[in-house]
Order: sequence, then C-alpha cells, then structure tokens
Amino acid sequence: ESLARDVDAALRSIPDFPEPGVVFKDFTPVLLDPALRTRVVRDVVRRHRGGVDVVVGIEARGFIIGAVVAHELEVGFALVRKEGKLPGATHSVSYDLEYGSATVEVHEDAIRPAQRVLVVDDVLATGGTAAATCDLVERCGGSVVGVEVVLELGFLDGRSRLGDYPVTALLTD
Ligand code: 5GP
Repeated sequence: ESLARDVDAALRSIPDFPEPGVVFKDFTPVLLDPALRTRVVRDVVRRHRGGVDVVVGIEARGFIIGAVVAHELEVGFALVRKEGKLPGATHSVSYDLEYGSATVEVHEDAIRPAQRVLVVDDVLATGGTAAATCDLVERCGGSVVGVEVVLELGFLDGRSRLGDYPVTALLTD
C-alpha cells in the first residue's frame, strides 16, 4: 500500500542506538512531514470512528500520534507513563526487559469501567510496553478495542505477548 511505502521511506534507521547492536527506527521524520503525518492519523481514525471512548498514548511518541487521534475521534486522551511521572493515584504494571524490568502507570480515574479504549504507540518491539498498557486498561475496568502502532518490528514477535488484542500496524519490518 502506498501509505505504508511512504512511511517506510520516511523512517530512518539509526544503528547502535540506544546501545550497540540495536538498530533504532526513528519516527520523527514522519512528524515533520505534515501531509504524511495527516495520512497516518487518518488511517488510524478511519478504523476506529464511533468505536472508541478513550485513546491511551504510551510515553513518549505515543502521546503525539495518540493525542491527534483522540482529537479527531473527539474522545478523551489518557497518558500511560513511566513510573513516578503521574501526580495522581495510579495503577502500576511492571514487565521484564532484556536486562531488568520497567514499570508503567496510568491514573486510576483516567479510564472508567466499560469504556472502550484504543492504545496508540509509534513502534511495537518486544510488545512488553503495549502488553503492560493493556493490563493497565483492564485494571481500570476498561476494554481494549485495539492496539495501533505505526511500525511493528515483526522479528521480535511482540504480537505474541498481546494475546487476543487486535493489533494493527501500518507497516511491518
Ligand atoms: P517494547 O516494549 O515493545 O519492546 O518497546 C516498545 C517501546 O519502546 C515503545 O514505546 C517504542 O516507542 C519504544 N521503541 C522500541 N524500539 C524502538 C525503535 O526502534 N524505534 C522507536 N521509535 N521506538 C522504539
């Protein structure tokens, strides 16, 4: 598809970031291109119009696309952040990384029971962050209607950590 092709052309691969041996997919050129950014957002919005009560954006790049998607869908926007950043009462979920672990949090009252929640991020890598985010949504009583990412790193099989949640990637590497 041409949108996937255009996003693929815009993404930059940065070798050895954030550590040696990792090739980081830099998504910031997509944000700099207003026409391409709009097409990306519209693609997500088209799939979910009328079916979402709250969009959840994952820190930090998920905030950018997620907030614009929430604006277009005319629904609320909730933040999932790394531990210690949210000021109110939170739910927390920890997950394993290759070395050590990470914790993400959401305000307890950001999502109300039975709300339909769309999770948005830029990249699905190992899937740990997205799976923990879906867990947070369910702790609040919400139900995940979709996980939308711009890029899925297919070789890391993050999808397998997301069970039955419907995952959509604009582009798979
Ligand atoms: P995971 O938990 O799936 O391994 O990692 C996903 C999280 O790390 C996402 O929030 C994503 O923004 C970030 N991430 C991991 N790898 C990359 C990458 O190559 N490029 C970008 N832009 N983000 C990445």
